[in-house]
Amino acid sequence: MLPRSRYPRSEKCFAAASRILPGGVDSPVRAFKAVGATPIFVVRGRGAYLEDVDGHRYIDYVMSWGPLIHGHAPGGLVKALASAASQGTSFGAPTELETRLARRVAMLMPSMERVRFVSSGTEAAMSAARLARAATRREKIVKFEGCYHGHADAFLVQAGSGAMTLGVPTSPGVTAGAAQDTLLARYNDLGSVEDVFRQYSGEIAAVFVEPIAGNMGVVPPREGFLQGLREICDREGALLVFDEVISGFRAGAGGAQRVFGVRPDLTCLGKIIGGGLPVGAYGGRRDVMDLVAPAGPVYQAGTLSGNPLAMTAGLWSLEQLSPKLYRRLGALGARLAAGLADAARDAGVALQVSAFGSLLTPFFTSQPVRDFRSALSCDTDAYGRFFRAMLARGVYPPPSQFEAWFLSAAHTDRHVARTLEAAREAMHEV
Ligand SMILES: *Cc1c(COP(=O)(O)O)cnc(C)c1O
Repeated sequence: MLPRSRYPRSEKCFAAASRILPGGVDSPVRAFKAVGATPIFVVRGRGAYLEDVDGHRYIDYVMSWGPLIHGHAPGGLVKALASAASQGTSFGAPTELETRLARRVAMLMPSMERVRFVSSGTEAAMSAARLARAATRREKIVKFEGCYHGHADAFLVQAGSGAMTLGVPTSPGVTAGAAQDTLLARYNDLGSVEDVFRQYSGEIAAVFVEPIAGNMGVVPPREGFLQGLREICDREGALLVFDEVISGFRAGAGGAQRVFGVRPDLTCLGKIIGGGLPVGAYGGRRDVMDLVAPAGPVYQAGTLSGNPLAMTAGLWSLEQLSPKLYRRLGALGARLAAGLADAARDAGVALQVSAFGSLLTPFFTSQPVRDFRSALSCDTDAYGRFFRAMLARGVYPPPSQFEAWFLSAAHTDRHVARTLEAAREAMHEV
């Protein structure tokens, strides 16, 4: 006889969802396919905890994939949202909230001289690509293997065989035409960027990069990598675009650009900027941003862009950021990273923990991870076993080896200690 499932209600919910939603979810990683499980269905989040329909409670390290730097449902945010909602949920006309949030963003990230709000990170990156092409009158963009910039056609591209190959679509439905304008380079490898520029001299509009990679698992930039990109872009007349959808307000209040002291031409934001509501933004050099309609000819619009509830959540979230918060998150992240590494070593499991402040990924491999190819050396089945063992012990890590763990202001030393107790046991089930 099969053992009784721990998740009977979630399984029922998932079966019902799968009859009407493709794959049972609205975004693929949520389906737990990469960890050989069925997704838990959530009823509520509170602080550092998530509760599912079966009555289990988890210490949450997904935190909605990054936005919830202040934890689930912080009181001040809930109050601000209720008050804003009582005044109307959308106007399709400007409010002062947009100016206030844009000013705060520009104060934290001075490279953002002008800001345009959109509703997702995907929209931010897609719009920045159009703008960069218009500003340079060039058509090609460079991205890095393993970096994610949302699901616009131009970014759903991976190398078939190395940096010199033309982009090959990662998804059916992306045309060869869209893919051929996307060139690939290797993260942390300036030589691969030089090669691409040599081959496509004068044709490259922009280099898009996650200044701290978060979508192949966490991979920080090597010393000099971002500075090197800045120099290459300046020399070649291409724009440097930082996709700080994860790292913005996460690496520090000023994003990775402040931490590493490199000023991009354009920046894409998302996740934390919406405080858990759907917000994205792109912005940067005034001369470039002034090409965006209606200031200029580059068309981009949105019915719900600058939505008052979303702006309220963003403002509240950015107002709570402080140096003290980042010090605390950094210390917690370091403890969690060191503890996971210890737990693996004691259990004889090969593990590389890669961390940056409140972001981390335990890579199940014996090789250092510096780019997408080394990340692919991971034993994803081992990660799946670890994930399931953690879930059974009341800890919810990301349901994929290649996603970041996120800490929040609601996480405490006690949560981390409990997580490490669970991890010490779980490592024996890997
Ligand atoms: C999540 C993410 C995106 C896409 O944002 P969505 O809001 O999911 O569209 C883009 N870039 C990076 C770096 C991300 O992590």
